[in-house]
Amino acid sequence: MILMGPPGSGKGTQAAVLAWFQDLRHVSTGDMLRAAVASGSALGKRVEGIMAAGELVPDDVMMEIVKERLEELGEGWVLDGFPRTAEQVAGLVELLDGLGQEVGLVVDLQVPDEEIVRRLAGRVTCGDCGHTTSRDALDPDGGCPDCGGRTLHVRVDDAEETVRRRLDVYRATTGPVAEALGRRYPLRRVEGVGAPDAVAQRIASALEAADQA
Ligand code: AMP
Repeated sequence: MILMGPPGSGKGTQAAVLAWFQDLRHVSTGDMLRAAVASGSALGKRVEGIMAAGELVPDDVMMEIVKERLEELGEGWVLDGFPRTAEQVAGLVELLDGLGQEVGLVVDLQVPDEEIVRRLAGRVTCGDCGHTTSRDALDPDGGCPDCGGRTLHVRVDDAEETVRRRLDVYRATTGPVAEALGRRYPLRRVEGVGAPDAVAQRIASALEAADQA
């Protein structure tokens, strides 16, 4: 599966739910790049500034990372945050054709810009377990709802100005990617507004419909 949608549309949350219920491996290119930055690797040093500015990491770098991960995983994954450009779509199709793999469904989550800016302004990540959540969902003591951790970080690229830049990049570059994917694989547009459970239910219905098609 591939999950598409603007930053803050809930791709990460929904991909984690799908991974759990459908027994898929969650492949998040944003998480992979953030891990590289945190480790201080050569890749991390190369992409840190690009990510902090809300710009896209070059296609050749992204293709290399994704190729390595998908080759090692085999079948049964949900991609979150990739592909984001026409070049990445072409590279992914070639890679999957070479591996003899198909994409069962592309889900394109639909969320209006103002809702995204509101959501990202309240987003925090737990420094202990890595769980991303909204400030409203913290436990009564202000800890992580998953592990109780109290070291909560705001992603550097979640500053409002950077969010607006990421949305511009998304509209200009990544928006048309869903259409390109839809020409090759089954695509459904799913309303991403509402409680995470309700969105997960809509995605499950889309999957069922795609399975029956
Ligand atoms: P995300 O967590 O998916 O919002 O990704 C965070 C940041 O990582 C993006 O704003 C980009 O700078 C970079 N990134 C993640 N995936 C890609 C990709 N497929 N192509 C280019 N840059 C990416």
